[in-house]
Amino acid sequence: MDGQETLLLKLGEVVLKGLNRRFFEDRLLSNVSRRMRSCGQFHTTLRQSIIYVEPESGDCDMDAAYAAACQVFGIVRVARAYPCPKDPEAIARTARARLGDAFARAGSFKVETKRADKRYPLNSIQISQTVGGLLAEAFPAVRVDVRHPDLTVYVEIREQAAYVHVPAVPGAGGLPVGTAGRAVSLLSGGLDSPVASWMMARRGLELDLVHFVSPPYTSPQAQEKVLDLARHLSAYCGRMIVHIVPFTHIQEEIRRNCPEAYFTLVMRRFMMRLSERIAQRAEAKALITGESLGQVASQTLKALCATEDAVSLPVFRPLIGMDKVEIIHLAQRIGTYDTSILPYEDCCTVFTPRHPAIRPELEEVRKAEAALDVDALTGEALSGEEWVRVKP
Ligand code: ATP
Ligand code: MG
Repeated sequence: MDGQETLLLKLGEVVLKGLNRRFFEDRLLSNVSRRMRSCGQFHTTLRQSIIYVEPESGDCDMDAAYAAACQVFGIVRVARAYPCPKDPEAIARTARARLGDAFARAGSFKVETKRADKRYPLNSIQISQTVGGLLAEAFPAVRVDVRHPDLTVYVEIREQAAYVHVPAVPGAGGLPVGTAGRAVSLLSGGLDSPVASWMMARRGLELDLVHFVSPPYTSPQAQEKVLDLARHLSAYCGRMIVHIVPFTHIQEEIRRNCPEAYFTLVMRRFMMRLSERIAQRAEAKALITGESLGQVASQTLKALCATEDAVSLPVFRPLIGMDKVEIIHLAQRIGTYDTSILPYEDCCTVFTPRHPAIRPELEEVRKAEAALDVDALTGEALSGEEWVRVKP
């Protein structure tokens, strides 16, 4: 009697939580359940630091569920496992039936057992030996090698059943989305801000995304690219709202009224202010940007001070100490790289000054901005805001 393939999701940092562990676990379980919904009908339960994802009908897409499980923050390992009765014969039978392909590719194997059910009569070494012996008979071409096997067969003796699986793959790590509160992330179409959003969601923040557009200087394709990035991120971050904010008039006013050297900084201050207003409405308690110290003129220490001066919410810049190469590696790992490098213009690049101020004095930036009616311009931009919902 072999059971249906089941996903075993191992909890990460959540297990280190003390009294509020339940809060983290509940949130993680509901994040997993929601994420599984698009892959079929599943039963999800949490027992002893493992989430079990069991298909409830025959038409569940297990490959999709497995891929999705690897993107849920709070999970450190994911295994595709096969449940069976808790006796060595049944365990070996299940391994034979389900792991035949893995044995066909291996020259050597070993069995490793975890005995989570402490009342089980055999200890883990006895189980490994017995099951290993039976598998060695079943696959005479594959020898036993306990030191450096090609294939390790894992056996987990748990309360409700035994589970057999090949090595688990790493999960997305971090903390469950939503356990750290909500923040607003400023998403451009570049490489950096998607990575910054991902990093902060991984620390448990639920995100609202803000994107500024400057039609006709920026194209509908540029906006679509950002929505693609947002959809991609939602596989990790869950459903999100992308706030699309028209920015053309603000940029034109800046160009008409401010000294060219301060174009970018004044513009960045508007972005921060508008994002803060959106954060207040969404009850978000922080802003997130993809800035990295020294990367461009508007990301020197003085420039960052001038930008941050416009808002009072904390501004999280997870990339601040990272090199471009590290950011690119992360973008590749989370899968945003290919979209980010598509060549569409961003509103930042539309009115780039020829000689931006590199060490701007805050007072000078404020003075430059004083030529504008800040309240009227922010109000007008927010009145043109549109919402797009994205989900995995
Ligand atoms: P990115 O790769 O994220 O575009 P960047 O290094 O190109 O970053 P800038 O273009 O100067 O840097 O922008 C700095 C940050 O400001 C971005 O990381 C992003 O958080 C935010 N930002 C820039 N342009 C926009 C935009 N059009 N809409 C929303 N946020 C933006
Ligand atoms: Mg950019």
